[in-house]
Amino acid sequence: MDIAQIDKQSLWKEILERAKVSLTLPNYNTWFAPTHLISILKIESGYFVEIGCSSSFVKKTLETRYLGFLQEILQSALHKHCEIEFSVASDPNKTNIKEIESSTPLFANLAVKTLSVDEKAISCGLRKGYTFTNFAVSSSNQMAWAAAEAVANNPGNAYNPLFIWGGVGVGKTHLMNAIGYTILESQIDASILLCTGEQFTNDIVEGIRNKTTQSVRNKYRKLKALFVDDIQFIAGKDAVQEEFFHTFNALVNSGSQVVLTSDRPPSEIAKLEERLKSRFEAGLIVDIAQPDFELRCAILQIKSKEKGIDLDMDIIQIIAGNTNSARQMEGFLTRLITEVRVKGIEITPSYVLEMLGKPQKENNQIKNIKLTPDEVISKIANYFSIGKRSLLGNSRQKSFVLPRQILMYILRIDLGLSLQEIGKIVGDRDHTTVMHAVDKIKQMIPNNVNIREDIEGIKKTLL
Ligand code: ADP
Ligand code: MG
Repeated sequence: MDIAQIDKQSLWKEILERAKVSLTLPNYNTWFAPTHLISILKIESGYFVEIGCSSSFVKKTLETRYLGFLQEILQSALHKHCEIEFSVASDPNKTNIKEIESSTPLFANLAVKTLSVDEKAISCGLRKGYTFTNFAVSSSNQMAWAAAEAVANNPGNAYNPLFIWGGVGVGKTHLMNAIGYTILESQIDASILLCTGEQFTNDIVEGIRNKTTQSVRNKYRKLKALFVDDIQFIAGKDAVQEEFFHTFNALVNSGSQVVLTSDRPPSEIAKLEERLKSRFEAGLIVDIAQPDFELRCAILQIKSKEKGIDLDMDIIQIIAGNTNSARQMEGFLTRLITEVRVKGIEITPSYVLEMLGKPQKENNQIKNIKLTPDEVISKIANYFSIGKRSLLGNSRQKSFVLPRQILMYILRIDLGLSLQEIGKIVGDRDHTTVMHAVDKIKQMIPNNVNIREDIEGIKKTLL
């Protein structure tokens, strides 16, 4: 018996045990005992659970009377929302129940069989886990993202081809994969293929060498969507460009989607045939710029979570402030995680700065400079052109409240004063008020450009 089988049975046994507690014995015996778990699939919202019932009568009763009840039990066991469907089916493992009686633990090693979009994606040449869900958007990539979403939701019809270009590490490959993922999510058996310009080239060259050009052609021309990453690679290779031209035409003419990426726009790819340039330009060309600070923070948050560490916002900002590209950030995160795991040390701002090769005073931090709270108060009051008394006072006017919160934030983060001290300095406030103010600014920083600019501007006057 395979593991998935054992686990399914174990899971169902556990669910039935839980159900039994809330049911009368006759009800349990009539409606629940004659059921089994057919399949459990991972879906976006949680799990899709198919329950087999011994008869249509059992099925109907469970559907009408016990659906919510079962949903609750499954949810509490799996900690995820569960969609349930009932089918009439006999239990193939009825006789084996005894064998698994001793198999424990139940949920610990539950290998849920997934309807594996991931597996299918990999078989289509996609890179695992590059989806829209973990793709952050800001002004530098918004156009490309919107175009990619449109294509993903309406392949062959929105923009064809979609041509995405930009520098290294700006997310072209990620975005292209996300389109592929979305197509597979809505149609798991869609025939799509993602390859690099280099792989396409190798395929064609091999086809010519082995006299299998026709079958190579067929492989590409039957696709519903073709993604070629780094298409610039085919430039200057005559036979390959020729093949690509015909493949491209065949696909686009039959309504299949083509998505291409490159490090530059078609017009600037040297030695790219004119007819290909004009074909590429007939669709939509979008570019992605280097990520701005805001986007770098968002990407760092996504990547650090994926790598299993939880970084504080101040750490994220320090990294974002000292790196330029997503690749650089990923490389740094990997290094940071390794260091931390190997040395077992705590991640502090100064440690991160040191790893980034930035002595603290070069950074925008003002920790090393001896500043008095009075100086900070004066500079902030000047910066916002408000009186000191308003800054420190009780007015709830927005134009005073925000500067006051920024003041508390800087006194806390950069001067390292205690909450009590800050409370005393800023209009004799309670330490919880200070804490809320500091937290509020911390939360605003990643989402609000103005706040960031204000704080940076103030810090410049303090340096
Ligand atoms: P490119 O193909 O443009 O060189 P990639 O798509 O390979 O860049 O991106 C490099 C890395 O940065 C990948 O790990 C990718 O997931 C990540 N990345 C880039 N942009 C984003 C984004 N907007 N959101 C999340 N991750 C991103
Ligand atoms: Mg790439």
